[in-house]
Amino acid sequence: MPQTIRTLMVVGAGQMGSGIAQVAAEAGLQVVLNDVTQAFAEKGLSTIQRNLSRNVEKGRMTVADKDAVLGRIRLSTDLADASGCDMAIEAATENMEVKTRIFRALDSHLPEGAVLASNTSSLPITELAAVTDRPAQVIGMHFMNPVPVMKLVEIIRGLATSDEVYETVRSLAEQMGKVGVEVNDFPGFVSNRVLMPMINEAIYCVYEGVASPEAIDTVMKLGMNHPMGPLTLADFIGLDTCLAIMEVLYEGFGDSKYRPCPLLRKYVKAGWLGKKSGRGFYVYE
Ligand code: NAD
Repeated sequence: MPQTIRTLMVVGAGQMGSGIAQVAAEAGLQVVLNDVTQAFAEKGLSTIQRNLSRNVEKGRMTVADKDAVLGRIRLSTDLADASGCDMAIEAATENMEVKTRIFRALDSHLPEGAVLASNTSSLPITELAAVTDRPAQVIGMHFMNPVPVMKLVEIIRGLATSDEVYETVRSLAEQMGKVGVEVNDFPGFVSNRVLMPMINEAIYCVYEGVASPEAIDTVMKLGMNHPMGPLTLADFIGLDTCLAIMEVLYEGFGDSKYRPCPLLRKYVKAGWLGKKSGRGFYVYE
């Protein structure tokens, strides 16, 4: 029998965590939105407030509904607040050390039986599960960006994930208005194993002077009917996240076809992380 999730902690109030918190609260869940500092948590909340206000302006939501959604979100800077939750979704920085630390802490604070999910784009769910005492309750719940808009959730089964936990997460995804797709635990899962090498190749085209970023994006938009060019998308995802995913594919498969483009490394070292830092392949206001 799948569990009913009523109270959810979201760890990391960045682009993804704030989106997950918003959609969960809209679906009626009580949400605890956690980040390392109060300022980061508040930044996540203000993104949610902005999104909801836009929905009110466009007539998609009433002011009362907006206030009710916001009333279901509580901020936190202490992972011990997970002790009152049925489930936690970790959406912190794409780094194994960071996530391992969070998983150990959440495992010690979450009640017995609670589900522990990661929104990781590429890191091994089985390895995260192994640092906890509840590997059967650990699962990947990979939302797409922007969370309030994108329908897909890749649900990744670790080696030990139980069928019950899988069903719990599938019905939670449905409750949040998403479509869950079952995937097994391999580097990059399906979405990023297919998407990231294409983005990396587009960056090689810039690096080798094949064409300008604008030209590359136009080729993919008008020629392949993609709604957004690969370099615009990379800026949107965050170039640090793109690099981290390419590293996971490169190391995970040990295949040179996944070698991250040197230009991607250079941009990340320069702090050009895309839209979130104001500069990537394009410049943002
Ligand atoms: P982001 O940089 O916008 O946000 C990460 C947040 O995590 C920051 O607010 C940071 O302060 C917080 N954080 C870091 N360490 C923490 C800790 N120990 N405890 C609590 N919070 C902590 O990144 P993002 O784009 O939101 O990505 C988050 C996760 O979602 C990553 O695993 C990423 O791979 C995954 N993801 C990203 C996308 C995307 O398009 N950006 C899509 C799907 C999944």
